[in-house]
Amino acid sequence: MVSDLQREELRAMMADYLANVHGVTDLSRAFRCLSPDHEDRHPSMTFDKKTNRVRCWSCDFSADIFELAGIDNGVTSFPEKAAKAAEAVGMKLDGNGKKSEKPWKPKRKKPAPPFPEPSER
Ligand SMILES: [Zn+2]
Repeated sequence: MVSDLQREELRAMMADYLANVHGVTDLSRAFRCLSPDHEDRHPSMTFDKKTNRVRCWSCDFSADIFELAGIDNGVTSFPEKAAKAAEAVGMKLDGNGKKSEKPWKPKRKKPAPPFPEPSER
């Protein structure tokens, strides 16, 4: 099973997935569309780090790490997509048959709240 926490951790690994699987390392620039149905001649796809999704402004395809892992690996169920995504970014999931040596620890701190916290001083 994939816990909600791991789901969110994985979702936040989209940038790593793009770099590891698609060789897209400069996310400040557009890159070629990753949709198999779109032969993108010019870079039309951008990454939104707020939502951790990619979007093609030419064909309107958009995906998060799970959708992309499903397309890249030809799998359709969520556990399979999550397993493929986790494998690609080197993250261990619980209960996928493999025993992890150590529990997964997120590298990053908790994301900032969506709105600034009011200062009480
Ligand atoms: Zn496209």
